[in-house]
Amino acid sequence: MTASPSFGSPASPEPSVDLVTLGQRLRHLRRTRGLTLEQLSDAVGRAPSQLSLIENGKREPKLSVLQAIAGALGVPMQDLLRSEAPSRRAGLEIELAHFQKNPAYQALGLPVVRAGRRLPADALESLIGMHRELNRVLTEQTATPEVARRANAQLRADMRRRDNYFAEIEAAAAKVLQSVRHTTGPLSQRGILDIAAQIGFSLHYVNDLPSSTRSVTDLKNRRIYLPQVASGKGHDPRAVVLQTLGHFVLGHNDPSDYGDFLRQRVEVNYFAAALLMPEKFAVDFLAEAKTDRALAIDDFRDAFGVSYETAAHRFTNLATHHFGIPVHFARVHESGIVYKAYENDNVRFPSDVTGAIEGQPVCRKWASRTVFEAEDPYSSFYQFTDTTAGTYWCTVHVEATGSGLFSVTVGTPYEHARWFRGGDVSGRTVSHCPDPDCCRRPPAELIDRWAGNAWPSARVHSHLLAALPPGTFPGVDNRDVYDFLQRRA
Ligand SMILES: [Zn+2]
Repeated sequence: MTASPSFGSPASPEPSVDLVTLGQRLRHLRRTRGLTLEQLSDAVGRAPSQLSLIENGKREPKLSVLQAIAGALGVPMQDLLRSEAPSRRAGLEIELAHFQKNPAYQALGLPVVRAGRRLPADALESLIGMHRELNRVLTEQTATPEVARRANAQLRADMRRRDNYFAEIEAAAAKVLQSVRHTTGPLSQRGILDIAAQIGFSLHYVNDLPSSTRSVTDLKNRRIYLPQVASGKGHDPRAVVLQTLGHFVLGHNDPSDYGDFLRQRVEVNYFAAALLMPEKFAVDFLAEAKTDRALAIDDFRDAFGVSYETAAHRFTNLATHHFGIPVHFARVHESGIVYKAYENDNVRFPSDVTGAIEGQPVCRKWASRTVFEAEDPYSSFYQFTDTTAGTYWCTVHVEATGSGLFSVTVGTPYEHARWFRGGDVSGRTVSHCPDPDCCRRPPAELIDRWAGNAWPSARVHSHLLAALPPGTFPGVDNRDVYDFLQRRA
């Protein structure tokens, strides 16, 4: 656990510092200048009770009040807003306040200890040590594959409930775009630098990032370190920057458990996509295509210069909310295994007892798999599929990666196919899954011949099934990260 600074909610006027830290800095500066609360309140023309609320982190001060306070204390306002604690003791007090605000702690029904001046240093140290250890143990306990899969299923249910549209993230992204006066079209590299500067971070491209990370942020000096070369295919370097900034704009704290970690991942991915494909322009673009009955993920991708998967994903954010088109999305390996999926159109993905879809094989008749048998799998592929839940139309794109071919599918119920390019395709398959006779059970004559005479050695899907690495940020090697920051400091 780090000291868990938070960075203001999307609703607060400035993506700024944590209120508890701000209060501590203010109190520290006031005391070092030998001022009482009354003296300072006289100087800034505010009631002492108001200043006391600010010092206790219970009220967010207006900018004008902050300016007056900074003036009275004779410091630049930036000094009040810095994210580090004014002293080690104050840092521990802030950390304790954060721990006690945690719902997991509050659920215990234990008293909240006020970390005022009268709390002895050793008692404070001891409390913090216990909290840290408790958090570590809880985090490790939850990082089992089963818990992870349940967390994933729950997250997907939540996305479905919202039609995969997150109004508050759209609003946060729109505000950021407005702050850098981005008024039209796709977001440029220049625009991204402006956004980083606006949020108060500088970007640094390095060649020695720890291998367990995609970026590392130095919160003290507000520097974001990024790889000089984008790591692997499909990782838009712009998206990595925007995802990192997303954590701060959206006010994320250290994830409290694996579910929280996943939720943050979804939110920052959403945030990055909402900046790369701003809602207003994206909706205008799609509306025109829909009028022409020519909705196409490829065109959407090309118009905004993003990856196919990003465009497909972004389409699911907007399709239902803005156009009333229910959709499904799936990323499927050539072996037939689902890596990622989402639906709000009632298509029946295969799932296990925990409700997890990832790691399950999809029906061989579905477009996500028939595409691999197509003559030219890399060109536009469309198909109608009769399933046990109804008929769906799908458009599929295939991409080659280091770990094989993947299909990315966007589908919709039959009656919505007419809005899409390829919606008049004649190709059609019939799927009876989950009936094992559809495509799972081998034909009787092959069973007669081969049952008992086959011994396959299974390839292990370690990425899907292995125990998740422990840690607040699962799989991240903190020693590497701190070494790296130390090198760069
Ligand atoms: Zn099947």
